[in-house]
Amino acid sequence: MRVPFNQIHIGGQEIGYIQRALANQHLSGHGPFTRTCQDWLQGRLGGGRTLLTHSATAALEMCALLADLGPGDEVIMPSFTFVTTATAFVLRGAVPVFVDIRPDTQNLDETRIEAAVTERTRAIVAVHYAGVAAEMDAIQAVARRHGLLVIEDAAQAILSEYHDRPLASIGDLAAISFHETKNLHSGEGGALVINRPDLAARAEILWEKGTNRSQFLNGQVDKYTWVDLGSSFQPGEMTAAFLLAQLEDGDAITAQRLKTWHDYHAAFADLERDGRLHRPAVPAGCRHNGHIYYLLLPSRESRSAFIDHMRRHQVDTLFHYVPLHSAPAGQRFGRSAGTLANTQRAGDTLVRLPLWRGMGARETAHVIDVATVFFRMPATLQAGE
Ligand SMILES: *Cc1c(COP(=O)(O)O)cnc(C)c1O
Repeated sequence: MRVPFNQIHIGGQEIGYIQRALANQHLSGHGPFTRTCQDWLQGRLGGGRTLLTHSATAALEMCALLADLGPGDEVIMPSFTFVTTATAFVLRGAVPVFVDIRPDTQNLDETRIEAAVTERTRAIVAVHYAGVAAEMDAIQAVARRHGLLVIEDAAQAILSEYHDRPLASIGDLAAISFHETKNLHSGEGGALVINRPDLAARAEILWEKGTNRSQFLNGQVDKYTWVDLGSSFQPGEMTAAFLLAQLEDGDAITAQRLKTWHDYHAAFADLERDGRLHRPAVPAGCRHNGHIYYLLLPSRESRSAFIDHMRRHQVDTLFHYVPLHSAPAGQRFGRSAGTLANTQRAGDTLVRLPLWRGMGARETAHVIDVATVFFRMPATLQAGE
């Protein structure tokens, strides 16, 4: 049996909705499917104004514009994240300031943020790794004390919660991804959530390429014109039609991913107790969406040996980010605040197991069996010697 790392899920309604989009004779952005997706997201995400974008990256770039960042402004973020968490701000000339993560959730260590704040700090980007919430209460308290904007990189966090609040509804702004590797997807896709009502009008102008076209469509002005910065951030209607089918399937997709996640978690409990590995932690009050199941191995060498072992048994596993602070562009454009030992450890030892909608109990059991064989081998073999 071969178990791929990911399989793209298509629920069934996608083609029918795309045919309706074709029949609508509206394939560019901001059409009926875009509006229906936005309404669905606003309904599920606490009511903040939501705009579909062609990616989470685009939504993060809109966040950087809305934050009015300029050269030398500083943005606190983790280094253990995807590249565009940083590039969106670097495009405005801002400096990413990397703060270490917690060893249990791999999210920003909320106790270390304040020490990284300077006169130039303007925002904190909280990444919800694996769809598990960063400690938003503590992060927002720091932000309030220093007058900083809070931006949630909720790219992985659709339908996750923090103390009964949906992720992406808590920060001033949030970015969600619908890339094909995420729980719900449209190939490429994303959304910007604006939880600060005073930023919504400007967000719509940026989204409409710097024009007041939204006000024109609402009948608030009689012609539309160039009024501000902007770019092309909208997805076309075929993408939105595909996405709507995924959103409507969202609870079922999440439930099945969580089942696989919990099967893994139960299976590796004894190995964690024996000190062979670490499992992901989900703090009290966090409801996650089963986006990623990962293990932390004792060393970089044992992780390589594990990935090789799994591959020999036809199971695809993947490590994750090369920490941004250690990347060439991270060194050129950013700086680190304090030591990043937990970041380095996650970069070196974290491995992700296959997890996708449609993965059956047989496949999950196979991954668990093959992994267990590895961890029961003599320690020298596990260490890759
Ligand atoms: C996937 C991801 C992104 C980028 O999403 P796109 O939709 O591909 O632009 C950004 N940040 C994080 C944490 C991600 O996981």
